[in-house]
Amino acid sequence: MNAPIIDLGTEGTQSQVGERAFRLGLMRRAGLPVPDGFIITAAAVQDWARNDLSGSPLGNALAAAVERLEVRLSQKFAGGHAPFLLAVRQSPVASSFGLHPTILNVGTATDALPGLAAVYGSTGAWWIRCGFLQDFASLALGAEPELFESARRGLEESHTRFHERLAALYGEALAGAGIVVPESGLEQLETAIGCLCRPRYGPPAGQAILVQVMAQEIGGPRPGVGTLRTRKRSDGSRNWLAAFRSGWSPERGFSGDSGPCSRTTADVRGVWPDLGDAVQRAEDTLRQALEISFIVGFDGMQIVGADPLRLEPKGEAAITKEFVDRSVISKEEAVAVIDPVLVERMLHARVDPAVRAKVICSGVAAAPGAAAGELVFSAAAAERLANRGGHPVLARTETNPADVGAMHFAEAVVTSRGGMTSHAAVVTRALGRPCVAGIADLTIDAGGRRLRFPGGPWYEEGTLVTVDGSSGRLLAGTVRVLPPEFDGPMAAIVDWADEFRRMGVRANADTTGDARLALEFRADGIGLCRTEHMFFEKGRIAAMREMILAGTEEERRIALRKLLPMQLRDLRELFVVMRGKPVVIRLLDPPLHEFLPRGEREMLELAERMHVPVDQVMTRAKSLEEFNPMLGNRGCRVGIAFPEIYEMQARAILQAAIEAGRETGEPAQPEIMVPLVSAHREMEILKRVIDHVAAEVENEFGEPVAYRVGAMIETPRAALRSDAISRSADFLSYGTNDLTQMAFGLSRDDAGRFMPQYLRQEVYAADPFTTIDQEGVGELIEWSVRRSRKVRSGIALGLCGEHGADPDSLAFCEMLGIDYVSCSPFRLPVARLADAQAAIARRNRRPAHD
Ligand code: PEP
Ligand code: MG
Repeated sequence: MNAPIIDLGTEGTQSQVGERAFRLGLMRRAGLPVPDGFIITAAAVQDWARNDLSGSPLGNALAAAVERLEVRLSQKFAGGHAPFLLAVRQSPVASSFGLHPTILNVGTATDALPGLAAVYGSTGAWWIRCGFLQDFASLALGAEPELFESARRGLEESHTRFHERLAALYGEALAGAGIVVPESGLEQLETAIGCLCRPRYGPPAGQAILVQVMAQEIGGPRPGVGTLRTRKRSDGSRNWLAAFRSGWSPERGFSGDSGPCSRTTADVRGVWPDLGDAVQRAEDTLRQALEISFIVGFDGMQIVGADPLRLEPKGEAAITKEFVDRSVISKEEAVAVIDPVLVERMLHARVDPAVRAKVICSGVAAAPGAAAGELVFSAAAAERLANRGGHPVLARTETNPADVGAMHFAEAVVTSRGGMTSHAAVVTRALGRPCVAGIADLTIDAGGRRLRFPGGPWYEEGTLVTVDGSSGRLLAGTVRVLPPEFDGPMAAIVDWADEFRRMGVRANADTTGDARLALEFRADGIGLCRTEHMFFEKGRIAAMREMILAGTEEERRIALRKLLPMQLRDLRELFVVMRGKPVVIRLLDPPLHEFLPRGEREMLELAERMHVPVDQVMTRAKSLEEFNPMLGNRGCRVGIAFPEIYEMQARAILQAAIEAGRETGEPAQPEIMVPLVSAHREMEILKRVIDHVAAEVENEFGEPVAYRVGAMIETPRAALRSDAISRSADFLSYGTNDLTQMAFGLSRDDAGRFMPQYLRQEVYAADPFTTIDQEGVGELIEWSVRRSRKVRSGIALGLCGEHGADPDSLAFCEMLGIDYVSCSPFRLPVARLADAQAAIARRNRRPAHD
C-alpha cells in the first residue's frame, strides 16, 4: 500500500501517517468526534520536499483527496454556501517534542467569506480571515510579525466591524510588502503543505502531514477550547483535570483576554454532555491515559488532539491493570507496555520531587533509593550510631568485604571511588540501600571525620545529609523522602510477567535474609551466593585469618576444621529456606589479602590467638601482598594452590545439602561454582577435587546428593575457551562484572572517575558496567555460548553480574538463549518483567525497547 495520501482513520501504519494522525485516526474509527481529513504520508512528504508539485501525481492526489472530503461532508472546500476550511499540521512518525507548526483556516479565500458569514456570522467570518492571513502569511510566506502589529496599530477594538477592517489593513500591509496570498483554496493548501515539508520547519524525514477539517470555537451555545487530562497523574484515578476557555461572543467576537478559564469538570460536562463515555472510549481506543484537546463550537464538540499523558508509576500500573480487568488489553500487552524503570522506581524510597534541596555533590547513581541520616566515616561509628537508634550515612573512599557488616547498619553509603559494579554498589544494591559512588573530586578525610567537595564547606561527622541513590546526588540536610510504593496493581503485572518469560530469574543472595526476600520477590533460585561474606562475620574472621596465615598445609587444615561447621550451618539454613530450589554457591573468590588483619592491633590479637610471634604474622601478611590483587592470587587460583580450602567448602555445601534435604523433605539442589576460571585445566583439576569430596560425603551419609559443578566465565580467555572448559562443567555463569572489567581493561572500582565524561563524549554508548557492551563483551559471551553448546548441548547457562536486571542486557541474553539471569533480590521484579518483555519481543520479532 503506497498511496501518497490516505484518508484519516482508514488505514496506514504509524510510520506512514505519523503518530498524531495515527492516534486521531483510531479515535475517529472508534466513532469519536474527530474532524475528518487526510494524510500526506511520510514518504510522500519526502517527494514533496524534493519536487515541484504542479501537475505531478501527488498534486492530482491532493485535489482528489479534497474532492473526497467534499463528497463525504456534502460541503465545498473554500467556497459554496457553507464552506469548510482546513487545518494543516505536522504528524511526526516518532514521539517528538518541540514546535510542530500548524497552519489553520486554510481555504479562507475571499470567495469563501459570504458562505462563512452565513454559518458563523459576519464577525466570525472576518475573525477567521484575520487569523488565516496572519498565520498563513507569516508561516508559509515569511511575513514578519511586525507587519501585522503595525497594520493593527491605531485600530480601536470598539470599532464597529473591527475584524473586517483589520482584515483590510492586513491585506494592504501584505500588498505593500509584496506578499501575495493566493485566493484559490487549493493553491493555499498546496502552499501550506509545501511550507511544512520544507526543512526550515524541521527535517522532513519522519514527518507526515495531517490535513483536517477546521473545528471553530465559534457558534453554538457555549463555544470555546479546552483540554482535559483523563487521569490523576499520581494514582491513575479518574479524576479529571479540565480547563475550558470560552471567549467568543457573536456581537464582539473574541474578547481581549479570551474570558476566564474554568477548571472544573462540571463546566466541561456543560459543554460536552457525554464526556464520561467519550473519555473512556478514547482511552480504551488508544490504551492509555490522555491529555485531550477539544474545541466546542457550531459543530458541537470536536477532539483535535489526544496526547499520551505520562502518569507516576503507581498511576501507570493502576490504569494498565484496569485495562486488563476490563479486557481492553491482554495480560501480555500489559506486561509488554510497562517500563521496567517504573518498577524500579516503585521498589525504592525517593526524594520528594516537590522539595528543592541543596546538592553537595553528585556521582554515579550506584544503588537506587533515598535515605537521610547523619554522616559517619567508619564501620564502627556506623554500628555505634545505629545501636543508639540513629541513622548513619556511611562515607568512605571505597568499601571492601570487611565493611559488609557495617553496611548493614548504614541507611545509605557514599564513596568517592567506584562505579556501577564496585564493592559498595554491589553490596548496597543487595541490601536495598541507596548508594552514590565514584564522586570523583570528593575528599573524604576519614581520620578527621569530615568530607568536602571543592568549593564547598567541610561536612563533619554527625551532619545531616540525604543520599539520593536514584539520581546519584548527596543532598544537604534531611530532605523529605517518600516511601516505596510497589503496590497491588504493579505486583500483579509483574506476576503476570512470569507467564511469558522464558529465562529463569534467580537472586544473588548470601544470607538467609537475602534468600527470604528473594522468595518473596518470587526468585526461581539463587544464582550466586558469594561465600566470602560468610567469613567476615564476627567470630569468624579470626579463624579465616588463621587459615590464611597458616605456614603449612597441616596448620591450614586445622584452621579449616574450625571454619567448616560455620560454613555448614550457614549453607544448611540457606538450603532449608530455598526448599529444593537450585542454589549456586560460589567457592572463595577474593584475593586472600582482603581477609588479612590491618594495623598493629589486629596483628597482635591474631598472633596471640595463634600462639606465634607477631613478627611471624607480619611477615606472612607481607608475603601475601600483591601489586594487582584483582589480577593476582584470587578465585580458583587459590583453589589450585590450596585445594584444601575448596575441599572444605565443597564438603560444607554437600553435607549441608543432604542435611537440609532431610529436614525439609525436599532434596536441595546445590550448584558449586568455580570463580575466575581462565584455563580448562583449572576446571578439570577442581572438578576432580569436588567429585572426590562428594564421593566421600555420599559414603559417609549413605545417600547420593545431586550436585552440579560449573565455571564462572569472568575472564576473556575463559569465554574464548568455553568449549574446553565445558567438558568439565555442568553449567557456566557469566560474571559480567569482572568480564567487563577485564575485557575493557577497566577497573570496576575506579571507572566512576571518568565514566561521566566518557558517556558525555559518547566514547561508550552506555556505562558497560550497567548495560552489557554487546559489541565487545557481548561478542565474547556469544562466542562462549556457541562454543559451549557445541560440545555440551544441554549445558545450563546463566548470568550473575549486575547486568542481570538491566532490560537491554536481558534482551541480549534472551537473544542468545541464556537459561537464567541472577540479580539482587530488590531488582527481581524488574528482571522478571524485563525478561518477559524480551521473550514477548523476541516472539513478535521486534526490539524490546524501541
Ligand atoms: C562478576 O564478576 O560478575 C560477579 C558476579 O562476581 P563479583 O561481582 O563477586 O566479582
Ligand atoms: Mg567476579
